[in-house]
Amino acid sequence: MSAANVGPERPGGQGLDPNQEESGNRAILQLLTTDEGAAWTDFVATLRVAADGTSAYEAWARRGMVRWVREYAPDGGYEYPVLEVLGQNPLANQDPFALPTYEAELAASEAGPNDRPGSFIPHDAVTYPYAYERLSQLFDNPNAPDLVVNAEAFAFGLSPGQHGNLDVVQSRSPLIFSGPGAKHGRRVAAMARQIDIAPTIAHIMGFPFIDGRDVTGRMCSEQGFEPGVYLKRQDGHVLTEVVDDAGERPERVYLLLLDGQSHTELVHRLESDEHSIPNLRRLISRGTLLEHGSITNFPSITWPSHNAIGTGCWGGHHDIVNPSYYLRAERETVSPQGQQFDTARFLSPEVETLFEAFHRVYGEWDGAFAGALTASIIEPCTRGADHATLERRIVGDKQALIELTHETQHEINPRWKDELEDFGHRMMGEIDNRGLAQARLLFTDPAHAKPKFIYHEFSQPDAAAHDYGPHHEGARAALDETDTRIGHILRTLEGVDCFEDTLFIITTDHGMADQDVSLEANPARIPERNGMAAVTTEPFIYLRDVAIEIEVAHDGRTGRVTVVDNDAGTTGEWPPIAGAQVTVLDAKHHTVSTAHTDAGGTAGFVIPADVRARDLALSVVAAGFNTRHVRLDGTNLAVDLREALYGNAG
Ligand SMILES: [Zn+2]
Repeated sequence: MSAANVGPERPGGQGLDPNQEESGNRAILQLLTTDEGAAWTDFVATLRVAADGTSAYEAWARRGMVRWVREYAPDGGYEYPVLEVLGQNPLANQDPFALPTYEAELAASEAGPNDRPGSFIPHDAVTYPYAYERLSQLFDNPNAPDLVVNAEAFAFGLSPGQHGNLDVVQSRSPLIFSGPGAKHGRRVAAMARQIDIAPTIAHIMGFPFIDGRDVTGRMCSEQGFEPGVYLKRQDGHVLTEVVDDAGERPERVYLLLLDGQSHTELVHRLESDEHSIPNLRRLISRGTLLEHGSITNFPSITWPSHNAIGTGCWGGHHDIVNPSYYLRAERETVSPQGQQFDTARFLSPEVETLFEAFHRVYGEWDGAFAGALTASIIEPCTRGADHATLERRIVGDKQALIELTHETQHEINPRWKDELEDFGHRMMGEIDNRGLAQARLLFTDPAHAKPKFIYHEFSQPDAAAHDYGPHHEGARAALDETDTRIGHILRTLEGVDCFEDTLFIITTDHGMADQDVSLEANPARIPERNGMAAVTTEPFIYLRDVAIEIEVAHDGRTGRVTVVDNDAGTTGEWPPIAGAQVTVLDAKHHTVSTAHTDAGGTAGFVIPADVRARDLALSVVAAGFNTRHVRLDGTNLAVDLREALYGNAG
């Protein structure tokens, strides 16, 4: 392996280490070859860490596997050389421009197996934009899983619409820049990622360059460069295709996030339904629409993606790696997306939010007219925002907010209460209506300056696309209702003379794909359901394994095994496992002896005089952990995945 191979930024148990070769390979085999796995799983990705500490990334599918590493590129950033391909490289097609329209999605779905109805798209019709970068960044984080499972694009859960995958349909967001600083009245074909939005905003606003970290985690100065980033950490870059450096600079930025809104559906509405969504249409007409949208974080899920947009960093770097994830040391699963409120504390202090950057450049808001007032409205990225609904920091008089909320209450479509999912989705119209009131008051309250930066989430499109499907008439009604709310915002800004000098950005946090709900699929749960010791927070799998150390005495007649938890605890020590059953097996798998580990995790065993140590193996069974089989020299008796999946011995 090349000396330039750059491993995970913060090693902390993520991926498969040598103690997890057996369990990891067994889990991958179950995920790909059980009946459910064969029907539901597209591929399984991991970071494989060798005994010498070097590592490589792997993606395994039934059709083939690919193994790659990450190296510093000569001109900055990373490159991702491929070391090995067996069969068909499952990530070979990374075209971010694939399936650019609703019609293309429908055409691709017709090629699907089994004549399934609906627009279910098989894996050979999707692409995986920026696959090596988006998978590798995840494993930079100590809270990343051992395995991450990409479901078939149509095979996840019980909702007609879903997202989370690496593929282009579930990872594509619309992206529009509109107003001063953005090019006018254009559609462009440009490669864009959601981590590029924050640097592009900073550039348009004229923020100064700073000596921050780039995608490699290294400071500009560390690499011998002048200060050249806009944010404390900046994985993305400026989207020069949308920027108009010659025009006026905007006075403020209004980021409108239409949660879960399909890009292809939005463009379909623009092109096929002339008088629909007039307010979005108006914004788009005075800006630049990216023809192929923009690619989100991986996993393409709400909390990680919103924070990727708000920080310009991948989830593996901003720390909110998934809606829910497991803290190995604490033996605890946390769910920022589940708790919704007060989740800024999960965001890494090593990244900077746009709210914080606006304050760095324009000063802290003093509660009145000095400094920059920033607002996060019903928005999961909150840290540093003066007004932050989801941190319970509300700027504005409560009674005034109630009155404004009542004014537009009648615009909530009554069908949501009857038709949408009981848990959460029925209330999305109410929640978005409250957000609208907050936005209006922030601009009309004479007690303080106008906001300088607003990041405003609309959740109705997501709720409807999940419950009806992304191209269903119900999802269209949700976009119509959201457009009405955007109309109020535009009129409010016009009323206080703030429309013309505001840069608007319209985007979302992930794509949305039609699901075959009859499958009731959930591939990441397969190993746990098949008896493996694992913590599953879909699409993540954390295997619970033991680390084993074997010492054979000099005379070759006795040995000693020490069994500890493979995940270090909060003190950094690996807790010993007491009561693990150690069985010594001969070459014919006959039991030679058994023992149990003591409180220190240690057991002694006898090596019979007529048996060679190299012919013996140990099995270690500990409650709550995956069973290990090892030779006395410590090497694993693990399934050979290359042989088992592709008949490729050695
Ligand atoms: Zn979302």
